[in-house]
Amino acid sequence: MYYEVAKIRSKKILCSIIIALLTPFVAILGILLLYVLLTHNEGEALNAVLAFLFVTVIIYIRSIRQVKRAHIVQRINHMLEQDEDGLIPIADIAQQLGMEQRHFLRIFIDAVGKAQLRRCSIYPEDPTYIILDNGSLKIKERFRATHCKVCGAANVIRLGLDEHCKYCGSKIES
Ligand SMILES: [Zn+2]
Repeated sequence: MYYEVAKIRSKKILCSIIIALLTPFVAILGILLLYVLLTHNEGEALNAVLAFLFVTVIIYIRSIRQVKRAHIVQRINHMLEQDEDGLIPIADIAQQLGMEQRHFLRIFIDAVGKAQLRRCSIYPEDPTYIILDNGSLKIKERFRATHCKVCGAANVIRLGLDEHCKYCGSKIES
């Protein structure tokens, strides 16, 4: 499993409820806006309706986007969970998902950052690949905290890969 089932599921449910609750609200505000405009009852009433409509529509659009994203994260997980450890070209994944690489990357990076997707990341040596490590090694066996010999900064490195200091860019021996 690459993704946090509970997190994604609860987000999907919560946002779906928000969308369901907001749909009639948006419709009512739309009708109100029409009414205010048609009766030329402008001024404060119009401003109030516009403000409400604006806030509601923003929440509405955000919720729809969150549900879509959660769905895409589930699809990414479904695609990758059976795969062997190693590198997969981002172009291939994006193509399978039927989306632009740019769009896929934005969602992927966001999901990894929020720990919705685990045990996968952008391959640091060549960012046109993602790397999967769903293998037998535990996190502690894959990563090690160390200090950069050049600038002394603390870094967490992935064993077996060429890593560079996040602060000064010097190569760190693993
Ligand atoms: Zn350094």
